[in-house]
Amino acid sequence: MKGSLNDLRIVVLAGGVGAARFLEGLVQVVRPEQITAIVNTGDDAEFYGLYVSPDLDTVMYTLAGLVNPETGWGLRDDTMQCQEQLARYGEDVWFRLGDRDLATHLRRSILRQSGMPLSEITRRLCESLGVGVRLLPMSDDPVRTVLNTPAGTLPFQEYFVLRGQRDEVRSVHYRGIAEARPAPGVLEAMRTADLIIVAPSNPFVSVAPILAVKGIQDALQKKQACAVAISPIIGGAAVKGPAAEMLRSLGMEVSAYGVANRYRDLVKTFIIDQVDAELAHRIERLDLQVIVTQTLMTGQPEKRALAQCAVESVLLAR
Ligand code: GDP
Repeated sequence: MKGSLNDLRIVVLAGGVGAARFLEGLVQVVRPEQITAIVNTGDDAEFYGLYVSPDLDTVMYTLAGLVNPETGWGLRDDTMQCQEQLARYGEDVWFRLGDRDLATHLRRSILRQSGMPLSEITRRLCESLGVGVRLLPMSDDPVRTVLNTPAGTLPFQEYFVLRGQRDEVRSVHYRGIAEARPAPGVLEAMRTADLIIVAPSNPFVSVAPILAVKGIQDALQKKQACAVAISPIIGGAAVKGPAAEMLRSLGMEVSAYGVANRYRDLVKTFIIDQVDAELAHRIERLDLQVIVTQTLMTGQPEKRALAQCAVESVLLAR
């Protein structure tokens, strides 16, 4: 066992906003250099020929202290002049990209055109923005989350942003997943981690695509004894986004229990919110250790406390 918090190597499986908030707390509990975040790229999309990685950017901007606090994504105080002009030319502007945000996508696209893998591009962007956490895309190979709905098969961003998550989701698929290899460093980071945390992210469109990349779910199962997940569902509802509706339409219980049931063979510990305390006994019967605490990350103290709780859950279990 590692001696202290300062030696721990921590891996976080991360989507966008929920994960970014959690990581903001975690960097106040341990040094950023101790953390590797493995980030979903199933939401990636191209706009105006530019490659956009929404979850990587949300986590990167948040950890750089640059994120727009009102939306949880995009850059603080950004302007929209480029898209206003594009709209005058008749381009679609439903996916909002601010002027300074566009610089990130331009830079990423320029480097991609030179043949650089997404993992190396991400490393360089993070270095430029002073992000100390190591952010790894789940894969350098393209994976695209698509949702089967009564309106047809929709790419994730069309479902989520253009159509405002209004369609019932009948199933979720990850195009390209069979060929996708974990990005360099992903499996090694998981193998050598003292603690793996599944962030409070959407189980279907943030965490599941990461787990579906060859070898990642196996790697997590091997570390089950030191793995913990945090429920993104509080009091039967998602804090934001369509996780609750997806649980319902995919035939699962719309509660922290429903999420725990998905993760039962992957983690040892499951953290639920205090408003869900009465679910603890049922979740324990899934053979999970349950921790009840405040999981709603309303401000920095709450983010820090949740991170501390997740870290200690595994330390105490050893
Ligand atoms: P997205 O790709 O930006 O939608 O990001 P994520 O999948 O990481 O985040 C969405 C999930 O995070 C939703 O299911 C939310 O319920 C969850 N979430 C957001 N904020 C909080 C919070 O403060 N506490 C908890 N427990 N979950 C949260």
